[in-house]
Amino acid sequence: MFDFVVVGCGYAGAVSARIVAENLNKKILILEKRSHIAGNMYDDYNEVGVLVHRYGPHISAMNDKRTYDFLSRFTDWVPYEHKVLAQIDDKKVPLPINLNSIKTLFPEKYNELSNVLISEYGFGSSVPVLSMMKSNIEEIKNLADFLYRKVYLEYTIKMWDLDPKQIDASVTGRIPFRVSFDDRHFLHKYQVMPKNGFTKLFENMLDHPNIKIELGINAKDRISVDFNKNSIFYDGKKFDGKLIYTGSLDELCGYEYGRLPYRSLKFKFDNYNENYVQPCAVLNWPDKRPETRRTEMKRLTGQILPNVTTTITEYPGKYNENSLDFNEPYYPIIKKEYLDTYRKYVDKLENIKNFYYTGRLACYKYYNMEDAILSAMKFVDDNFIKEHNE
Ligand SMILES: Cc1cc2nc3c(=O)[nH]c(=O)nc-3n(C[C@H](O)[C@H](O)[C@H](O)COP(=O)(O)OP(=O)(O)OC[C@H]3O[C@@H](n4cnc5c(N)ncnc54)[C@H](O)[C@@H]3O)c2cc1C
Repeated sequence: MFDFVVVGCGYAGAVSARIVAENLNKKILILEKRSHIAGNMYDDYNEVGVLVHRYGPHISAMNDKRTYDFLSRFTDWVPYEHKVLAQIDDKKVPLPINLNSIKTLFPEKYNELSNVLISEYGFGSSVPVLSMMKSNIEEIKNLADFLYRKVYLEYTIKMWDLDPKQIDASVTGRIPFRVSFDDRHFLHKYQVMPKNGFTKLFENMLDHPNIKIELGINAKDRISVDFNKNSIFYDGKKFDGKLIYTGSLDELCGYEYGRLPYRSLKFKFDNYNENYVQPCAVLNWPDKRPETRRTEMKRLTGQILPNVTTTITEYPGKYNENSLDFNEPYYPIIKKEYLDTYRKYVDKLENIKNFYYTGRLACYKYYNMEDAILSAMKFVDDNFIKEHNE
């Protein structure tokens, strides 16, 4: 029998498994319901030879040296600075909005506007659009109102399916305006892409004699929890090893307190017989059309492949596991009532002494990849490694 069973083979599950495998020398079984490893980071080559991210475009932007050093054991990197353009009416401007964006949007007012912005906030600063909306300098206030309407409002409405009245300017207005010419989307210390793709990185991470992976297995077909006995059962037999769970807690508990809601995405993949079809990796559409953005994969990965290119267009929708298009839970809907429901699941599982959870689904949080990795590392340290070293 295995010492550890890990459910889910995304970053949370794979990082936990690798650290346990090599530091504790324990046998680990990973159960993954999809037919592949790597969770939402999964990539593969499509029918025309382009490397595509099957669950939407993913960029490795990291600040933490421990994450970067850990992943660097399993991949070489290519440098990559992510650039996003937003289409505002007939113009394409850098996002986050900066002085270059203003120059394109308002060429005739640019000198005056940039002088006002620089003297008010200082060159190089980053100012939430909400504070600009509250400015008593008329040019700044008008600019902020324009940006709020044209860049954030419609995007938020379609992304989260909200009525405009429900949109709190204090949330959307936190998005920064950059008083600089820095067009990079991320300002992270490490901005790289794995040289041979994310799936290869995962293959290397999981290549350890103590790790076995079974794909196409939903944990609920193997694992059950008896809440009366506070015990976990594996294939009907009591399991005394440790269970690390990175799936959804509501599913594990049979949705006893209701389902935790998510927003989902439909991805449309298009191939073209051209070198490139757009001037940047990501083109955002913050207007009323149903799509939110389109990514050109070759611009993201740096893949050299002449006369063919692939884009991914994203359409947001309400998650429902039976939906044809929106059947993956991507973005938790963070509201007090749902967090209260989530808490009930956590409390219910708390008495199961060999149950542990980490990752974006089990924590019901939006984690970027670095969050998922760092919290998995901390979780393994706190629960297993420290105890082992004492
Ligand atoms: C569209 C999109 C774009 C993103 N872009 C970025 C980006 O550019 N940069 C970035 O840093 N982050 C990005 N993220 C976030 C990134 O995807 C996550 O941080 C990361 O995948 C989290 O890893 P995880 O292991 O927690 O979850 P996942 O990768 O989702 O892995 C969980 C795994 O558990 C499996 N599982 C669940 N339930 C069960 C079960 N019952 N039985 C068996 N297996 C189960 C799932 O199939 C899945 O493979 C993006 C997310 C989305 C949705």
